Amino acid sequence: PLTTADLIEEHRICVCVRKRPLNKKELSMKDLDVITIPSKNVVMVHEPKQKVDLTRYLENQTFRFDYAFDDSTANEMVYKFTARPLVETIFERGMATCFAYGQTGSGKTHTMGGDFSGKNQDCSKGIYALAGKQSCFGFSSSCAFIKEALRWKNLWTFFFCFCVFDLLNRKAKLRVLEDGKQQVQVVGLQEKEVKCTEDVLKLIEVGNSCRTSGQTSANAHSSRSHAVFQIILRRKGKMHGKFSLIDLAGNERGADTSSADRQTRLEGAEINKSLLALKECIRALGRNQPHTPFRASKLTQVLRDSFIGENSRTCMIATISPGMTSCENTLNTLRYANRVK
Ligand code: ADP
Ligand code: MG
Repeated sequence: PLTTADLIEEHRICVCVRKRPLNKKELSMKDLDVITIPSKNVVMVHEPKQKVDLTRYLENQTFRFDYAFDDSTANEMVYKFTARPLVETIFERGMATCFAYGQTGSGKTHTMGGDFSGKNQDCSKGIYALAGKQSCFGFSSSCAFIKEALRWKNLWTFFFCFCVFDLLNRKAKLRVLEDGKQQVQVVGLQEKEVKCTEDVLKLIEVGNSCRTSGQTSANAHSSRSHAVFQIILRRKGKMHGKFSLIDLAGNERGADTSSADRQTRLEGAEINKSLLALKECIRALGRNQPHTPFRASKLTQVLRDSFIGENSRTCMIATISPGMTSCENTLNTLRYANRVK
């Protein structure tokens, strides 16, 4: 298992994979777990193939990432290796982003938002809350730098901002503006100041409920929208750093481009476009390219100031389902994550 000694310091782009356990439904239909994590940064997919004589054999595919989290890894551990190292960035006048990417049902919201299974509505263990508490109050901060900075309480103010790219509701389309300093402003968004630890969870709860309110199926809705949660750090009132944490739309929605329903097709196309643009922007960031193709989608436009600038760091958490029935989507997710870096 991963230990603190495995933490890679100072990389600009971190790409990791998180496997969730087989769920009740998969267990009841006797779905097979086809994913193994043989070491702390390797993921293997054992894809069943049919031979000509109809006997089955497994074709193994190996992928390598910065970290690979198996199905026994808790959120706190994932946080420690992914978002936590980025909190420092915002205190150093930097921009940080952390994405959860993967198929619907693979664990994006569980990772970012927290535990919403059954009657559980606990956002306290999600990366939003963990990053929020650490940024604003230095909780469990091992970083002396953050602790020292936070001693000067009057210097800093913290704001949270939640936005959902509602691809279902075209009326609520976001308008993106750029100001003179090329910092992006999104019209119609509200920033809320965070003054105490209780505010952290309260605001995240409100944000989470905004994403799903009025929808018949929460999951159908979230699979079609990107949710962006931002922590904005101001020093003497001026923007100092920003941490954007994003629960992306389900990547399988891209397949909807062949759907008979026009609305579904448009959504699929929009999701495809934004996920492709995102990949290109992260690649450009990693290669220090002067040109970042952020104009290609609304999502990357909103995140524009996070992709440019000296001190930008990003982390992608690719979430995967373990089942054989999800194999194709899982391979797509792993290939995408592989190309980001
Ligand atoms: P997504 O947001 O990618 O569509 P969810 O986060 O909603 O997926 O996860 C689907 C279901 O699987 C939820 O009931 C969630 O509680 C459960 N789940 C996801 N990841 C894990 C995990 N690592 N451990 C335990 N349960 C998980
Ligand atoms: Mg979700």
